[in-house]
Amino acid sequence: MDDRQPRITIAHSMEVSYTTLDAQAGLSYDTTIRLTVDPMGMYPDPQAVCLLWIASNHIFKGMSEFDEFRDAFEEHALRNWSMLIDMFPQVFGQADAATRRMFAKAKPVAKRPPWSKCPRCGKPIWAEEGRTELAETRRLLKEHPYPLWCRTCGQRFAYSDGQIECTSRFGIQETLDTLDALFPVDQPSIDTILIESRAEGGE
Ligand SMILES: [Zn+2]
Repeated sequence: MDDRQPRITIAHSMEVSYTTLDAQAGLSYDTTIRLTVDPMGMYPDPQAVCLLWIASNHIFKGMSEFDEFRDAFEEHALRNWSMLIDMFPQVFGQADAATRRMFAKAKPVAKRPPWSKCPRCGKPIWAEEGRTELAETRRLLKEHPYPLWCRTCGQRFAYSDGQIECTSRFGIQETLDTLDALFPVDQPSIDTILIESRAEGGE
C-alpha cells in the first residue's frame, strides 16, 4: 500500500493567562502550537495529536511557561513523548492517565457520514451539519474517504470490512435531519438572497 498522503499540520491555540500589565500595554502573543504529522500514520502521529489536545485544556500561567512548553513539545512530542509527559505534570496530569488517552482503543464515530463526529471530542470529521455546503462536503469526503483518526484529539476510528463504523442505525429521523441540513445551504433561494442583502444594507 503506497498511497501516502502528504503530511499535515495540526494547530491548537493554547490558553495563556496574561498579566494585567501586558493587557494594558496592548501586547498580544502567538499562543499556537503546531505539529506536523502523517495523516495515515498510526504511531506516533495520533498519539502526539492527543497530547496536543490534552495540553489545549491547560491554562498556561504567562508566556514563559508557554514558551518553555512549546519548545519542549515541538522537540519531543513525536520522538520522546513519555519524557514530555514527565516534564510537564501540570499540563498532562498523571502519566498513566495521559497514556491511556493516547492509546485509547479505536471507536465507532457518532452519526452517519458525512455528518459524523468524533466520539471523544465531538468535532466534525468531514462536514458540519447545516453549515458546510454540499460541494464542499463532497470535496471533503473525496479528499479523506478513510480518516483513521481525529485531527483534533487523535482518537482512532474503528473500521469493519473497509467501512468506517458509526453508532447510527440510519433511522428515518436522522435521514430527515440530514435532508434538512443539506438543502438550505446548497441552493439559496431568491428569498434568502433578498433577505441577506437587506440585512447587510440595513444597518
Ligand atoms: Zn476528536
